[in-house]
Amino acid sequence: MQETCLFTPGPLSLSSDVKDAMRVDLGSRDETFKQVTQRVRDRLLHISGTDKSHSAVLMQGSGTFALEAALATFLGATDKALVCINGLYGERIARILEKSGKNFETLLCSAALPIDVAAVERIICRDKQFTHLCFVHCETTTGLINPVKSLLEIGRRNGLVTVVDAMSSFGGLRLDDDIDILVSSGNKCIEAPAGVAFAIVSNRLLASGKSSARSFCFDMMDQWQHFEQHREWRTTPPTHIVQAFDKALERLIEEGIPARNARYSRVQEKLLRGMRALGFKTIIPQEHQSPICLAFCSIELVPDEAAFAAYYGALAQQGIYIYAKFHEPTTTFRIGCIGQIQDFWIDKLLAVTAAHFRISPSILAA
Ligand SMILES: *Cc1c(COP(=O)(O)O)cnc(C)c1O
Repeated sequence: MQETCLFTPGPLSLSSDVKDAMRVDLGSRDETFKQVTQRVRDRLLHISGTDKSHSAVLMQGSGTFALEAALATFLGATDKALVCINGLYGERIARILEKSGKNFETLLCSAALPIDVAAVERIICRDKQFTHLCFVHCETTTGLINPVKSLLEIGRRNGLVTVVDAMSSFGGLRLDDDIDILVSSGNKCIEAPAGVAFAIVSNRLLASGKSSARSFCFDMMDQWQHFEQHREWRTTPPTHIVQAFDKALERLIEEGIPARNARYSRVQEKLLRGMRALGFKTIIPQEHQSPICLAFCSIELVPDEAAFAAYYGALAQQGIYIYAKFHEPTTTFRIGCIGQIQDFWIDKLLAVTAAHFRISPSILAA
């Protein structure tokens, strides 16, 4: 089989020792696996620096499952959330709340700019019924970083519960701030396989014991209490994935977030330089750009979905996979910078891109 080069912002290319951790078959209710589960929960707190103030709740499924569980559990019937949106994942938070009949309002911002902090403040001050503030840390639609510190500060000043989707940033970007509910998953900057997501929830919220969930599977409080009381999962855990997750967290702690961030930044810089030379532009101002993924735009080369599909196909034929969907509203496509990306993969991606668009590869050497 040809080696595949994943440039997708999750799931991503894994290191071989993370994959090797899945070779052992552990008993799902056995003491050894209980220890793996506990270690994963402890390591998540250690990485986020919240050992004393928070607790980690693991959930089966992709990141959205943990997000939905957290919102279902910690947003009550009399609560009201403000959802700040500047991309697909902010929209998803609103869709989850809408489906579950929760009370919320949205603030729609431009996809090319950070969330408008002053507008958030105005809305919250106008309506005293808001109890929760929800937003995405790194909006993976474009790779944009939202102003976490300022938003959390507004939340704190107004006594709101803060819910942050840190799906694509946890482990890759430092997040020192005090967040009530942080949601993320293993298959992005943690570099684990897909299948386990989690929330890091403040002890204050957990200690209340209050759950607003009207679903068994998405009751995060029940899941947490089960971890605390029995040290195991309520329903069948994805044992092999949890084992790999544990190994991936060990590697993250060894490498450290600053070094991992620098590794992603090097990939990003090389990609950016090469793609710019070929005529592609980015839509995010550099100061708001994360090293997680890049959104590229070229009205000449990739004007629409059909042109993107042809380009995607040319890359895939060579074993190179970028994010498979074209984003119509911004006419961009995404290339991820996270995971075990090798330097020569980037050269290959740029060479295939140049060939596909009939651009002289000598441009890349300049
Ligand atoms: C990946 C991602 C999610 C979760 O998507 P899943 O497909 O459920 O894993 C949510 N928010 C952001 C910002 C993401 O990058």
